[in-house]
Amino acid sequence: MKRSILVTTISLLLTTCAPVWAQGQKHHKVVKLMGSRFEITAIHPDAQTAWNGINAGIAEITRIEMLISSWDPDSQTSDINKNAGIKPVKVDRELFDLIKRGMRISELTNGAFDMSYASMDRIWKFDGSMKELPKAKIVAKAASKIGYKNIILNEAEQTVFLKEKGMKIGFGAIGKGYAAQKAKEKMKMMGIAGGVVNAAGDLIAWGKDEGNKDFKVGIADPGQKDKVMSWLVVDNGAVVTSGDYERFAMFNGKRFAHIIDPRTGYPTTGIKSVTIICPNPELADALSTSVFVLGQSEGLQLINQLKGIECLIITDNNELITSDNLELKDSL
Ligand code: ADP
Ligand code: MG
Repeated sequence: MKRSILVTTISLLLTTCAPVWAQGQKHHKVVKLMGSRFEITAIHPDAQTAWNGINAGIAEITRIEMLISSWDPDSQTSDINKNAGIKPVKVDRELFDLIKRGMRISELTNGAFDMSYASMDRIWKFDGSMKELPKAKIVAKAASKIGYKNIILNEAEQTVFLKEKGMKIGFGAIGKGYAAQKAKEKMKMMGIAGGVVNAAGDLIAWGKDEGNKDFKVGIADPGQKDKVMSWLVVDNGAVVTSGDYERFAMFNGKRFAHIIDPRTGYPTTGIKSVTIICPNPELADALSTSVFVLGQSEGLQLINQLKGIECLIITDNNELITSDNLELKDSL
């Protein structure tokens, strides 16, 4: 199925169409973590169990943030970056494995996803402060430091070495998805059989909602916030959206997203938002960023090759495009 509909813009929202008798089972909390708005929901008849689960999820996300933060000078990630071109850094197995999985995604996407995009952090600012394009020479110099093949992993020593001075890695495109997955695991261990972790649009749902049905994610038009354009039924899986409508830069009438094309060092253009639907939120997070970089046609081609992974793209022209097997429901 290929669809092409004109829409203004989309956002994701969760339904609240549960029967009244079940309301007492649903507990949720909104909290700022990893610089983003997290919404954590637990379905459980016992409020104490639900809150213990939610708090365990929050503790887990906080723990991961300390490991992967590039702005905390004391994190292991900062240590890796400080030692770029100098020496390998021994890290926790967890961080080592996350980087290893990230590099596999780099290979899968032909380098569109690249954690070493972060050498561009000093050049591009997406907070409205940039008034003109940086000089091509400066962009090229910083871009020459991007290259996941220069992230050297030593399995036996459990070390990470950024081969070149000036290299830097960042987990902006995979960290929220990873944290959501880990929070879900912790919550399940605490007896939460149904719940949702929504990390600013990176969402994982498991089990059943308060009405004992699958969770549904509505794709809404923020112009008419109460109106859902279509529905996605989420049966134990992730729905992850890249595309922060507030974070972009405009130069000469052209819109630059906050995602960097590692091949050029320039922000991507052409796509406003990408939603990936698949079982694993970490993979979904990384792939949503990758499709931005690959662009509409190459991005769709990649997703259509991957079994169990679907996507929905909104282009700069407000065109909505979906992968071959994505099922959207116009009504419930
Ligand atoms: P969102 O911010 O909407 O969650 P993403 O999940 O796509 O969107 O993450 C975007 C972030 O990923 C950027 O802010 C940056 O930190 C990082 N990033 C940018 N370009 C790349 C890239 N090519 N590969 C990996 N990470 C990237
Ligand atoms: Mg992402």
